Amino acid sequence: MTIQTTNPFTNKTVKSFKEMTETAVEGKVAKAQEAFTHWKETTYQHRADLLHKVATLMRVKKSELAQTITLEMGKILSQAEGEIDLSADIFDYYANHGEKFLADKVLDPEYGTALIRNSPIGVLLGVMPWNFPFYQVARFVAPNIMVGNTILLKHASIVPQCAAALEELFAEAEAPEGLYTNLFISGKRASALVSDKRIKGVSLTGSEEAGASIAIEAGKYLKKVVLELGGNDVFIILEDADMDKTVEWAVVGRMNNNGQCCVASKRFIAVEAIADTFIKKFKDALSKMKVGDPMDPDTELGPLSSEEAAVELADQVKRSVDQGAKVLLGGKRADREGAFMEPTILTNLKPGIAAYHEELFGPVASFYVVKDEEAAIALANDSDFGLGASVFTQDIERGKRIADQIDAGMVFINHPTWTQADLPFGGTKRSGFGRELSELGIHEFVNKKLIRVS
Ligand code: NDP
Repeated sequence: MTIQTTNPFTNKTVKSFKEMTETAVEGKVAKAQEAFTHWKETTYQHRADLLHKVATLMRVKKSELAQTITLEMGKILSQAEGEIDLSADIFDYYANHGEKFLADKVLDPEYGTALIRNSPIGVLLGVMPWNFPFYQVARFVAPNIMVGNTILLKHASIVPQCAAALEELFAEAEAPEGLYTNLFISGKRASALVSDKRIKGVSLTGSEEAGASIAIEAGKYLKKVVLELGGNDVFIILEDADMDKTVEWAVVGRMNNNGQCCVASKRFIAVEAIADTFIKKFKDALSKMKVGDPMDPDTELGPLSSEEAAVELADQVKRSVDQGAKVLLGGKRADREGAFMEPTILTNLKPGIAAYHEELFGPVASFYVVKDEEAAIALANDSDFGLGASVFTQDIERGKRIADQIDAGMVFINHPTWTQADLPFGGTKRSGFGRELSELGIHEFVNKKLIRVS
């Protein structure tokens, strides 16, 4: 397998890394286990101090880390800087609130007295994607280090310098050896590692295929697993939406991170009364986006994460068109070097067409017109995914009523699906299970031990 940095703006490979041998991995698992025996005995204050140190180092090195993100997966530099800030915030958040979240819960049983104590469970394996190389890791690692668990991290093969930089941050913060360990191994080997007796839980963010592979192993060896997979989030526009603000958010919702967010707004559903107004403004805004070098501060849309990702997306669009979809804007690879795809809008989508069912991980919006609110909800729920959704209306009670009827893990009113340290994140259906971030995220890999006194 190849573990390498290939700049998607030029498609040139700039650095390659060696996959770790079985012996090296065995040594690292043993170190993580050894570190657990000590780390679980440390105080919450000690753990919080380490998390704060990592957060501070991230902020100090923000510019360098953000450039590494942009080099390896093409995120626009200002957004990469935003990702580092968000990741540092997540470390601080769990340092500040972790002890409170994990405090004993006193029960009121019919007989005797009892409490629930949250204890760490051991070494955890994280399998993480390239789309937010620091944030995805932060939201898994920060709560679990606070719990007292230790971490082995298999990062996506296209972001090895980000992976190494994360491990380096822990070393610089003087974390004990084995607390956070980067593994340069293939996805297949990560799946196989789940069987190791020392590994007590696994968390994966990525595709359904990779999630299923990990879940099969976790099921076979009876390990706890958290999966955050794909999404096909709707962005519903009702007749009473504030149109200019809605269009601004539609652009951000679809194009943030060059269109490669699991919670990106992917299916735009407008009611008839305002559909024409919305689509005209949305198309106009997308067609004016400045496509180019993600390091250039003027750029609004950069490349996809890799040439393979761009080829795959262009193929999904082509298959959809062959099956009857219409192209309202773009529709092809951009005529330039690098992993670029034109900003694209597809219409005339129906069941049976690829874009109706599949996640389009890039700057391609699917546009639907429906008669009314009820039809919008039915279309929203006609998906195998259930990650996020958003509803644009000036009637907040109406928005909440619609939120109740959408089968998704998160519904945002007048904002695309978003993330912050103190809001839970996760989905339903084929988008996965478990929750990350907020108080919920810290309770996924703990032993909720009952202690009862007679
Ligand atoms: P993958 O799911 O392949 O990659 C995510 C992580 O899983 C990487 O670390 C990858 O390693 C690892 N992995 C891959 N196969 C396995 C396996 N069999 N067992 C264990 N781990 C595995 O995502 P891709 O990069 O291929 O992207 C494909 C699609 O996945 C996207 O188009 C998008 O739809 C979805 N995706 C969703 C994300 C999200 O945020 N929910 C993030 C990224 C992708 P390696 O890199 O070595 O293959």
